[in-house]
Amino acid sequence: MAKNPEIQDHNTLFQSEKYKKQAENKLLFEAPCSIQEVEETEDYLKTEEYKDINFSRAAATINPAKACQPLGAVLAGLSFEGTLPFVHGSQGCVAYFRSHFARHFKEPVPAVSSSMTEDGAVFGGMRNLIEGLQNSSALYKPKMIAVSTTCMAEVIGDDLSAFIENARIEGAIDKEFPVPFTNTPSFVGSHIHGYDSMMRSILSYLSEKKGDIENKVPTDKINIIPGFDTYTGNFAELKRILELMNVDYTILGDHSGNLDSPANGEYNYYYGGTKLEDVAQAPNANGTILLQKYSTKKVEKYIKTSWHQKTISSWMPIGIKNTDTLLENIKQLSGRDIPAVLKEERGRIVDALTDSHAYLHGKRVALAGDPDLLLGLISFCLEVGIEPIHIVCTNGDKKFKKEAEELLLKSPYGIDGKVHIGKDLWHMRSLLLTEPVDFAIGSTHMKYCAKDAKIPLVRIGFPIFDRHHMHRYPIIGYQGTLNVLTLIVNTILQQLDDEAPDHSYDTVR
Ligand code: SF4
Repeated sequence: MAKNPEIQDHNTLFQSEKYKKQAENKLLFEAPCSIQEVEETEDYLKTEEYKDINFSRAAATINPAKACQPLGAVLAGLSFEGTLPFVHGSQGCVAYFRSHFARHFKEPVPAVSSSMTEDGAVFGGMRNLIEGLQNSSALYKPKMIAVSTTCMAEVIGDDLSAFIENARIEGAIDKEFPVPFTNTPSFVGSHIHGYDSMMRSILSYLSEKKGDIENKVPTDKINIIPGFDTYTGNFAELKRILELMNVDYTILGDHSGNLDSPANGEYNYYYGGTKLEDVAQAPNANGTILLQKYSTKKVEKYIKTSWHQKTISSWMPIGIKNTDTLLENIKQLSGRDIPAVLKEERGRIVDALTDSHAYLHGKRVALAGDPDLLLGLISFCLEVGIEPIHIVCTNGDKKFKKEAEELLLKSPYGIDGKVHIGKDLWHMRSLLLTEPVDFAIGSTHMKYCAKDAKIPLVRIGFPIFDRHHMHRYPIIGYQGTLNVLTLIVNTILQQLDDEAPDHSYDTVR
């Protein structure tokens, strides 16, 4: 069918006479600054003086590289079989979580809200919660409902434990129906803390109510907890590695099915996820490996103290060294050897890193993201001679800062790196404009400061709204390392082409 000329992309649509005229008319009712004033302000924002003022900012956050606590709790809920995430509080918050995930994963996201409004804020949200639980279980027939909270419910101090118990007494839900819950106030913490709290709540609920921790029957299985990981491709890669090593495993928290289900004509609210009975049996495993130590702090503590189980936690296994560590950890817990096929794969990726090294060596990069992701990426950069210069971690704590600084100091490529915790992407903008780097790595939200600094952005992290299918490709393991390398080196080569004079516009790079 021929393209309809009336339907235009908005890049061209808003250049048409009609819209140009509309913009001119708008100016009659606004009192815009002069072009000179705008340019002078833009220039001032690039100065060291403004950077110092920006870094002394204490009462406002601009474009933070983090999301809300309950958003993380929703992701944790989506990673278990037949589980409906239920957020007690305002409907608008949940619309934001669902749209955030839907834009990143390009999938529908089943999550409900108790839709508290003004009367709930004044008299408490118990009726909303009880009726919400009753309606959700009747309409969506889940096997489990995972309840978290928004700021509104937290500010008024709603008592989740008592409200859920009242729902059982009233018969809104069955006495035995599993409803793990956790408090997720977003005025403290971030999505990784909400994920951690909900994961701990689900693991403790299912292992204590449905399992039998006191009478453990040890098995050869191992548990793996991926953490707040928004790459469905990472789950496939992890399973491939475990199967190549012939390991009997349980992934605790697997949302890769729910957020990457096939289009086969039928919509299934619940697709995949960790089976509830597997969680009940998880305390019997030989041990647990946590792939993100900062997004599963409470979970690790719970497993150690309540399951009395050995735990090994690390940061995301990105890069050769971190993947080696992951394989060694799996070997240590499972007793299985690393097969030749994985050793060969390692060799091929080392070869690929060597092939690209000349274009990456000495390149300066700015990074923003979650603590575990950043530690994995910094480690990868140092392996290939990229120099991390500005590292912004809005949701990082002092322990993360210390660990990141120690990692940087281990390499000559890391000595100029500075780690900024609790800072946002407006701080990052000041850093990029006063101390330039060659490229940036971060989520879609970083595209604005990267554009202002005229540097390319390699999109790695969460959320990625403006590119498709990135989350389907792994960034962990040897294969994931190859993907990260490919993304970075081809961005550098594209920039080289874009900036090349005719005599250097080469066919071979
Ligand atoms: S900060 Fe609180 S009120 Fe705002 S969207 Fe997040 S949970 Fe909702």
